[in-house]
Amino acid sequence: MDDSGDKVREIRINPIVPTESVLVATARGMRPKKAEEQVERDRRARVESCPFCRGNEDRTPPEIKAFPPGAGWDIRIVPNLYPVLGDDRSQSNIAFGLQQVIDGYGRHEVVIDNPNHGIALHEMTDAHLSSLFSVYRQRMEELYRSDPRLKYVLIFKNFGAAAGASIAHTHSQVIATPVVPENVQNEVAHSRDYYRKYNHCVFCSLLDEALTYEATIYDRESGEIRRKINVGQYVIERGRRFVAIKPFASRFEWEIHILPLQHQADFLKASAEDLDDFARVLRRTMARLDKVVGGVQYNFFLHSVPHGSEFDNCQDSYHWHLEICPRTSIPTGFELGSGLFVSTVSPELAAEALRNAVIEDS
Ligand SMILES: [Zn+2]
Ligand SMILES: [Zn+2]
Ligand SMILES: [Zn+2]
Repeated sequence: MDDSGDKVREIRINPIVPTESVLVATARGMRPKKAEEQVERDRRARVESCPFCRGNEDRTPPEIKAFPPGAGWDIRIVPNLYPVLGDDRSQSNIAFGLQQVIDGYGRHEVVIDNPNHGIALHEMTDAHLSSLFSVYRQRMEELYRSDPRLKYVLIFKNFGAAAGASIAHTHSQVIATPVVPENVQNEVAHSRDYYRKYNHCVFCSLLDEALTYEATIYDRESGEIRRKINVGQYVIERGRRFVAIKPFASRFEWEIHILPLQHQADFLKASAEDLDDFARVLRRTMARLDKVVGGVQYNFFLHSVPHGSEFDNCQDSYHWHLEICPRTSIPTGFELGSGLFVSTVSPELAAEALRNAVIEDS
């Protein structure tokens, strides 16, 4: 590759949330590299002292649900032992997005997403991942149905100590709140503005650009890769119904988003076939990340259209997605203080490295 195009120093505006920006500042010749301080992950299949391992079910609060029911569960939902919010209105406040403080009413649950203690997402089968996301969907549905005051059900996962996971056993979390988290609210509001202006979903517009970009790379007569900057977002993995892209203005160096190719605002409307394809795209994306970054610690969170009649008019403008944010660097005081994220790997190079990673298929 030609080195001359490597040096990037520019502020990129997030097209979905224009108030959010990223400073992309990379040195000449800087290549995507493995994070220096990766902690070796716990690969044990079972740990006697772990409350989330099979056989230790009595060490968690009473189970909400297990799939399949009984001792041979594959996925198990329990209340969070240390909820950030609860049924009780006297609970202390919770901060969302560092700014929004809400009353602590809501639900907080843990999804033990695999009986295997140390398994990574890309080591799970497509069938298991599909079941996991269908369990999320079911839980979301039930929570919304159980309490009309709940406006948002946030599904997220912290994997690894750097990503804030306090228990090593692979798990994810469900938090249901009577307010919409600020990040989602911003996306909803800005995409609605965009729709009013252009009569088109901004996520679909970005996908169009990302997919066109991919075609440009492979169709060139000379076989050369001509780098294009500022054309949108880049494809890492493509399925029949879903695509994984590297956002043009990524807050995190290795951040990846997975979206349905066909417009869909609400994760609750994803079909079984959708989730099967989603699972495959997710597994292959995580395998690429593992290959390129190595033992990656990350957060993922699911963004879907919020619940409630005031969001009925967002069905055409909002587009559900999964955001995967690997934690390969720690935000600096500058980033936290300014709200401007700094990325030292150009999103173009990161996308290229991920796309070119050779992964095993199954
Ligand atoms: Zn365990
Ligand atoms: Zn769309
Ligand atoms: Zn989002």
